[in-house]
Amino acid sequence: MNNQKIRRVLRVVDTRGLVEEGDRFVPAPETGIPRRCACCHRQHQVHVYVELSDGSQAVIGSSCIGNNEMGERIRTLTWLEKRLAELRLRADRLEAEVATWEMTYAEVCALPLPWITSVQIPCGEGRLFTLRMGDATVYSDEGGTERRVRCLTDAWRSRRMQERGVFPFRPYNPGYRIEIARLEAQLAREYSLTAERPADDDRQQKPAPPTTKEEK
Ligand SMILES: [Zn+2]
Repeated sequence: MNNQKIRRVLRVVDTRGLVEEGDRFVPAPETGIPRRCACCHRQHQVHVYVELSDGSQAVIGSSCIGNNEMGERIRTLTWLEKRLAELRLRADRLEAEVATWEMTYAEVCALPLPWITSVQIPCGEGRLFTLRMGDATVYSDEGGTERRVRCLTDAWRSRRMQERGVFPFRPYNPGYRIEIARLEAQLAREYSLTAERPADDDRQQKPAPPTTKEEK
């Protein structure tokens, strides 16, 4: 890189795979592609593609630039890219789970429902009903009302879901895709912030000062 300055950061690529560790995803050590750094000449698995002041490109590591402003921006970009990779992985996994859940639920809903049996037992002043459908049971003090029958049907279907190894409730989606879109926009901003703008360019890009000219 000699004495070339970094004009801007083009892309940060962590070539390592992610592995689950507790409830987090972390880069798996030594799974990436080592690449020789233009800055310190060591091998790095996180590749930071930069454009230099002469227009050429170089690949450096994520912590090879010191504690200056550019070094700070590169660290932020590296962190955001990692967070984005993790979220994409979580979103893909959740969508696969939802697809499996929906397929299984449709299959279970297509099964013929067993007959309902109702047993009435005296209970204090009133009565209690035991409603059964196959291996599912609900209790009711109001008999086989529509609400209790729906409850019984759900209970029976939940058991069929569990038999198929699927949790009965639809997987919760905390809005990964929305968070991903937000992060992508933030990353695009952060990349554009790394662009070094010489003072000359600055002047050219500024709009002409407004002239106060009275009409008429
Ligand atoms: Zn380096």
